[in-house]
Amino acid sequence: MLKAPINKIIDHSLVDGIGNRSAIFFQGCNISCKYCHNPETQKLCNHCQFCVAKCPVGALMVVEGQVAWDSWACIKCDTCIHVCPNDSSPKVTEMTVDEVFDRIAKNLPFIRGITVSGGECSLYTPFLQELFGKCKSIGITCLMDCNGTIPLWNNPVMEVCDGIMLDVKAWSDQCFRNLTGADNEVVKQNLRQLSNRNKLEELRIVCLEDYVDAEDTIKGIADYVSEQTRENVLLKLIRFRHFGVKGELKEAASPTYEYMEKLKQIALENGFGNVRIV
Ligand code: SF4
Ligand code: SF4
Repeated sequence: MLKAPINKIIDHSLVDGIGNRSAIFFQGCNISCKYCHNPETQKLCNHCQFCVAKCPVGALMVVEGQVAWDSWACIKCDTCIHVCPNDSSPKVTEMTVDEVFDRIAKNLPFIRGITVSGGECSLYTPFLQELFGKCKSIGITCLMDCNGTIPLWNNPVMEVCDGIMLDVKAWSDQCFRNLTGADNEVVKQNLRQLSNRNKLEELRIVCLEDYVDAEDTIKGIADYVSEQTRENVLLKLIRFRHFGVKGELKEAASPTYEYMEKLKQIALENGFGNVRIV
């Protein structure tokens, strides 16, 4: 029976793809973005137990060497997340496909579909393939919100996935590596191949002057995707905000609105027909 670590499920979300959707956040990521606004989703808990004594209501305990979380006692103060030295959370639940599906099914008929996010949801494609198959059987759509560093175009999950929301992040290898600690060759391959297969739902760049080569990223995406993708797929230019960010960017200033408008203009000049600043 397939299981995956689930950080949280939001039953009704209007910001994770088109329409009202249930959003499922997986725990664990294969890269470490410096501007990540939920860094507690990056790593799996190593059960170091550091957070246990910090919980003000005793909702954390050690059971056979493993940290356990009592969701009923928890008052959601997030102290455990703030003190964790490992970019993790003790409030993660291992769930089966059926358990996730049963939770989603309760939200029918109010949702149009589900969106899986993270962490990095594409670390769990066998789980997703099974979950999406069940969702399709009841007529709801399935989107994946991904960092694109894992090849998807040839993954069987794409047979049951309606679209990828791809966070392109940066274009030059140096900029991407500085931001994430990883390589972006596979991101570019995903971009081209998923565009050719008409599987891109949304493209995204978090914009931060002097840190992200946003202008080159817009132009690079324009070169890599089909005309149909350029004209129709939503390109979100996200204004960096420091909320939740840890490390060297935790107090970085947001870009000016003038800068964001300039980027939008560049996107329009490069053939994007659906550009939004958020
Ligand atoms: S959020 Fe963490 S620290 Fe706060 S009550 Fe819940 S388990 Fe305890
Ligand atoms: S959540 Fe963090 S601090 Fe708590 S046990 Fe896990 S790794 Fe340690």
